[in-house]
Amino acid sequence: MTERFQLWIGGESSGATSGETFDSIDPSTGEVYAQVAKAGKDDAVRAAQAARTAFDEGPWPKMRGRERAQYLLKVAELVKQNAGRLAELETNDAGHTIRMSKGADIGMVISTFRVFAEIAVREEDEAPLTRSQGSMNYIRREPIGVCAAITPWNFPMQMAAWKIAPAIAAGNTVVVKPALLAPLTHLELGRLCVEAGLPAGVVNVIAGSGADAGEALVDSPLVDRVAFTGSTEVGRRIMQLASGNIKKCTLELGGKSAAIVLDDADLDYAVDGALWGIFFHAGQVCSAGTRLFVQRSIHEVFLAGLVKRADGIRVGSAAEPASDMGPVISKGQLETVERYVATGRDEGADVLAGGERAMVEGHDGGFYFQPTIFGGVDNSMRIAQEEIFGPVLAVIPFEDDEEAVRLANRSIYGLAGGVWSGDNARAVKVAERLRTGTVWINDWHMINPRYPFGGYKQSGLGREHGEVGFDEYREIKHIHLDLAGPNRARHPWWDLSVPKRSD
Ligand code: NAD
Repeated sequence: MTERFQLWIGGESSGATSGETFDSIDPSTGEVYAQVAKAGKDDAVRAAQAARTAFDEGPWPKMRGRERAQYLLKVAELVKQNAGRLAELETNDAGHTIRMSKGADIGMVISTFRVFAEIAVREEDEAPLTRSQGSMNYIRREPIGVCAAITPWNFPMQMAAWKIAPAIAAGNTVVVKPALLAPLTHLELGRLCVEAGLPAGVVNVIAGSGADAGEALVDSPLVDRVAFTGSTEVGRRIMQLASGNIKKCTLELGGKSAAIVLDDADLDYAVDGALWGIFFHAGQVCSAGTRLFVQRSIHEVFLAGLVKRADGIRVGSAAEPASDMGPVISKGQLETVERYVATGRDEGADVLAGGERAMVEGHDGGFYFQPTIFGGVDNSMRIAQEEIFGPVLAVIPFEDDEEAVRLANRSIYGLAGGVWSGDNARAVKVAERLRTGTVWINDWHMINPRYPFGGYKQSGLGREHGEVGFDEYREIKHIHLDLAGPNRARHPWWDLSVPKRSD
C-alpha cells in the first residue's frame, strides 16, 4: 500500500480543505510511490494565518538568538536520526541516487541548520551603541515577519533547509511550498520541526500547485517576505505578485553556467571535474556546468577524454547504489530534454556521446536519458543559451582568456561559473571577470552554507547562506535616544512655533 502524506499547518498534520490528493511518482520506475494531500488556496491562507499568529502573538520572534539556536540544533539532530528514511524518500520521490541522498543531501541539510544556529547565537550580541550630538544611537536587526518559501523539485530536502533554517534562525515564521513533483522530504521535515518542539505555526509545510497554493501565498497580505527558488520565468511572476504589499523577495533562478578549461589545466582532473559539473543529478542542477569552454590547443584531446569517460557513466535506478546517474524527474522533463537534443542537431551541433533515452533493465517505465555531449557548438545556439535542465553538455572552443571571458559572460544568466587551470594567478584573473554569483576554481558544485549563493543578471535577486543570507531575513532599525532631556535648547531643526511650557 502506498504511504500517505499530510500537510503541516499550525503544528498539526492536516488534510487539504478540499480533501484532494495527488500521486507522487517514482522517477526510477514511473510508478506511484506515495499519496499526498493537495493544498489549495484555502490551505495556503490557513497556513499563512497560522504563521501570522505565531509571529504576532507567539514567543518565537521575541526569543533570544541562542534560544532559537537550540531548536535548530534539535532539528539537525532529528535529521541525523531520521537520515535513512529521509534519504529513501528523496531517492524515490525526486530521483536522487541513493549515494547522493545519503551523502550530500543529508550532510547539507544538517550543516545548514547547524550553521544558522551558530549565526543566530553570534548575531544576538551585536548592536554597538554610538553617541552623536547629544543622542545615543544603535542599529537593531529584527525578523521581517511571515515568510513564504517556494521551492523547486530538483533538490527538495536541501531547498527546504536552505529556506527554513535562516528564516527561523532570524525569528521569522514560515510557510514552505514544495513543487508537486517532489514534496515528500519537505513534509517529513515539517514533521521533524514539530517533533523538535518548535512553537505551533513557526514552520508550516503545504504541498500544492504553483497556480493555486503558490500564487495565494505570494499574493497574501498576511505574508511579508517571499523566498523563491525556481525558473526565471516563474521568478518574474513572483516579483509581480509580491508587489501588492511590497513584499521583500529573494529569487534564486535559472542558470547556464560556463566552465572554462585553460590550456595549463591538469587534463585528467579537469575531464572528471567537467563531467561532475554537468552530469551530477542528471544535469538537473541550477548551477550545472552546461557550457564547457575548452582552449583550442587542447580541445580535441579534451573532447576525446570527455566522450570516453561519459560512456562509462552508469545510468540506473536511483535506488541502486551502483548507479552514477539516475533518472530525470518526470516524463515531461524527459521530453523536454529530447526536444533540446533535436534542436541541437537541427542547429548543426554534433552529438558526440549519448543523445537518446537510456534503457534500464527492469525499469522500463523510468525516465532515463543518456549523458549527452554536443561538439561543434556555437555559443549563440539555443542549446548554449537556454536552460535544458537535463544531462546535456555543450562544448565550445576558444582561443585565449579574453575570448573565454567574453563568451562565458554572453548569457542572460549569471549563477555560477568555473575555471580549470594549473596556474592559480591566471585562474583568479579569469574568475574575477566572470559575471556570476559563484566561481569555482578547479572544483564544481561546492556550495557551502557559510558563504553566499545566488545569481547575477536573470539568475536572481539577493543571496542565500552565510551572514549575507541571514540578513535577507531581517529588517534593519535605527534607534535614536535623545540624551539631553526636555530642558535643553530645542534642536535648531525643530522650527515650528510651538508654545513653550512656561508660556
Ligand atoms: P518552477 O519555476 O516551475 O517551480 C518552482 C516552484 O514555484 C514550484 O514550487 C512551483 O509549484 C512554484 N510555482 C510555479 N508557478 C508559480 C506561481 N505562478 N506562483 C507561485 N509559485 C509558483 O521550477 P522547477 O521546474 O520546479 O525547478 C527548476 C528550475 O529551478 C530551474 O530553472 C532551475 O534552474 C531553478 N533552480 C534554481 C536554483 C538556484 O538556487 N538558483 C536552485 C534549484 C533550481
